[in-house]
Amino acid sequence: MIDPFGRRISYLRVSVTDRCDLRCVYCMAEDMTFLPKAEILSLEELDRLCGAFIGLGVDRIRLTGGEPLVRKNVLSLVRSLGSRVGTDLRELTLTTNGTQLSKMAGDLHAAGVRRINVSLDTLDPAAFAAVTRWGKLEQVLDGVFAAKAAGLAIRINAVALKGVNEHEYDRMLAWCGEHGFDLCLIETMPLGDVSGDRTDQYLPLSTVRARLRERWTLEESEYKTGGPARYYTVRETGRRVGFITPMTHNFCESCNRVRLTCTGTLYMCLGQEDAADLRGVLRDPAVSDEGLREAIQDAIARKPKGHDFVIDRRQARPAVARHMSVTGG
Ligand code: SAM
Ligand code: SF4
Repeated sequence: MIDPFGRRISYLRVSVTDRCDLRCVYCMAEDMTFLPKAEILSLEELDRLCGAFIGLGVDRIRLTGGEPLVRKNVLSLVRSLGSRVGTDLRELTLTTNGTQLSKMAGDLHAAGVRRINVSLDTLDPAAFAAVTRWGKLEQVLDGVFAAKAAGLAIRINAVALKGVNEHEYDRMLAWCGEHGFDLCLIETMPLGDVSGDRTDQYLPLSTVRARLRERWTLEESEYKTGGPARYYTVRETGRRVGFITPMTHNFCESCNRVRLTCTGTLYMCLGQEDAADLRGVLRDPAVSDEGLREAIQDAIARKPKGHDFVIDRRQARPAVARHMSVTGG
């Protein structure tokens, strides 16, 4: 699949649920209303849709959410997609908040997952409870170490938050180095109403990188995972640090991905409203697999050039109304 700007679309992110057991302040409002269950695709329907994308050349799939591991029976989907790894799928990965990893890490590895991203914004228990509104740091740390023991490669994702974790990056880089994890820092994006002033949280990563360089030697790296992060190798630890900078740098030029929600809506861009309803197509008995593939191709032909996020102090509304937990991070 090649989009109108010549970009090959080979990466699908699938939000398997919009629900979550945490309420990170930059991601959700405390009193989120979740989608009615009737609107959500079954795991079999999600599997069929993923199969159609694979048939069109998608070779990496990331399961995300909401929290993917709180979806009931999600392992059946992981197993089905995992069985394709090494044949028509190069890689199946997962982004998780880590709360369920203690009990699920072994099964994920057995199903064919080799690499996961765990979101962890701080190593301070009180700050963690505040950012997630009620999460327990210890539960996530137990999960991270269970995943390591199960043989999963781990990247820790931390959203850079002014006044919350900005004094912790040195410590987190050292901690990741010590345990063999990569670290990826992410700029906050204005997605969805989160009941608070988001511009207060925004911290440009150019500043963070400059501060890190005072203590660490960051060597430019060619490493690529299919996602938008730019990586450096930290000479002192031998591990990588990545930066995802949607706000300070336009990461759209090399965009290779589209996002599918748990209701079967395909978003061609995280930062734009245009979408295609694949649920209607999927559930129409008159539409064959070929028809489904055509609907996907029609959507890819509409993929926009890029997002237009701006952090504007005068703008109270988010740039895009839907939350990251709906589109899938
Ligand atoms: N629940 C899982 C987790 O937290 O890893 C998966 C879904 S979460 C939406 C995926 C990623 O998006 C997380 O790393 C989270 O920190 C990030 N995220 C959520 N809202 C964001 C925002 N407004 N700006 C930047 N990153 C955001
Ligand atoms: Fe849940 Fe992940 Fe959003 Fe946090 S970032 S509220 S863990 S979906």
